[in-house]
Amino acid sequence: MNIVVQKFGGTSVKNVQCLENVANIAINEYDKGNKIVVVVSAQSGVTDSLILKSKEISPKVSDREFDVLVSTGEQITASLLCMLLHEKGRKAISFMGWQLPIITNHCYCNADIKYIETSKIIDKLNEDYIVVIAGFQGIDENNNITTLGRGGSDTTAVALAAFLKANKCEIYTDVDGVYTSDPNIDSKAKKIDVISYNNMLNLANTGAKVLHNKCVEYAKKNNVIIHVKSSFESGKGTIVKGI
Ligand code: ASP
Ligand code: MG
Repeated sequence: MNIVVQKFGGTSVKNVQCLENVANIAINEYDKGNKIVVVVSAQSGVTDSLILKSKEISPKVSDREFDVLVSTGEQITASLLCMLLHEKGRKAISFMGWQLPIITNHCYCNADIKYIETSKIIDKLNEDYIVVIAGFQGIDENNNITTLGRGGSDTTAVALAAFLKANKCEIYTDVDGVYTSDPNIDSKAKKIDVISYNNMLNLANTGAKVLHNKCVEYAKKNNVIIHVKSSFESGKGTIVKGI
């Protein structure tokens, strides 16, 4: 099976117009004969506003309930994207972490993915569905909802690519690739075409942070090649791999 995992961050899904663009990117890859698994983040600002809601109650809420709350942003995006795909005449189905399940350790707010049960995804891909997965979330061995840390949907995508043995793992964002430093601050920042996992991890610490650190570590351990691309413009993007 030619599986392509495509992950879209918060700015790429921030409103219906952006979601429509995401649906078209997924459909375009599907029409080339690939099986498509889309991982979505919460729409930009949603996770922050959920965190604020919890802070209105107390600065120290229960970690378990915090994760139940902040994991909901991705549920909104996943359902909206499926509805848009349906409007475009495509078969699409969403899954939350608990429905697969995506099993993590029990570290609320900063959990690590241990295992992903892929059978439901494979079944739906075989029935020609585009499968949309909520990023950032999983459950521990006692069925408690966990989250993977801010920016954690990147890690969901890479872990899915590893467990599904995907042919491609594309991470779509609002910049056209990885730069030597933050292009918003440094006018001399240069785009990098290919970068090793180790250099990517170093860059993340110096400010050019495009990918979640844990996601790069996970990719390195499991040899998942990541393709960072812009969802707003076509271009080569940046390949992250073991060189
Ligand atoms: N929604 C989460 C966050 O804002 C996870 C993600 O976007 O990757 O951090
Ligand atoms: Mg991100």
